[in-house]
Amino acid sequence: MTSNNQDLIEDLVLANHILYNEGVLDGFGHISVRNPLDPSTFFIAKSMAPGLVKAQDILLCDLDGVIHDEQKRNSYVERYIHSEIYRARPDIHSVVHSHSASVIPFGVTSQRLRPICHMSGFLGAITPIFEIRHSAGEGSDLLISSQKLGKALANTLGSSTVALMRGHGSVAVAHSIKQAVYRAIYTETNAKLQLESMKLGEIEFLSDAEASATSNMNDQHLERPWQLWKEKALQAR
Ligand code: MN
Repeated sequence: MTSNNQDLIEDLVLANHILYNEGVLDGFGHISVRNPLDPSTFFIAKSMAPGLVKAQDILLCDLDGVIHDEQKRNSYVERYIHSEIYRARPDIHSVVHSHSASVIPFGVTSQRLRPICHMSGFLGAITPIFEIRHSAGEGSDLLISSQKLGKALANTLGSSTVALMRGHGSVAVAHSIKQAVYRAIYTETNAKLQLESMKLGEIEFLSDAEASATSNMNDQHLERPWQLWKEKALQAR
């Protein structure tokens, strides 16, 4: 890790704390950011609870999932989620994997997660569901613990912003840390709203054109919620 990346590392630490504080991550889940100085590597915390991450806990990982650390510390078993998405998607610079609770029902039923309000237009028309049994058979532990499984997940994600993982969680991808945090938080919010709305009746979702227009609009205002979430997370420390 070079000093040139100091601000980026600081934002990655903050993102860990924000996602914990906003209820997207708990003791589990992770966020990473691609290294702008060497795009074939990325930064991710060592294997630990996101809410406790400090700058010195951030490790460098390559696209084969190999950690480059003089102290031989290890990162998450599921780092292949990140490495294989970065390999498959050169446009992506930050990845969040979470088990946020409201999203899970949409990965295990025929109800598809779709954009229900203007803050979650980034979900677009299709939020694919990854079925690990197709790659790992009937008796897996559901974790993305190899390059092979990471590749299969990246393949299911395709060009989408969010993919659900059946019986496990979801992954949100973005062009920056701030956009990734925004998307992970509003994926959970959208799922909550969709679950509530389903109780009342048939849902009128955003049209594809509305999803696209609202997503473009919100991308211009990522700084505003980031500042708020940052302040809340700092106060909660
Ligand atoms: Mn997981």
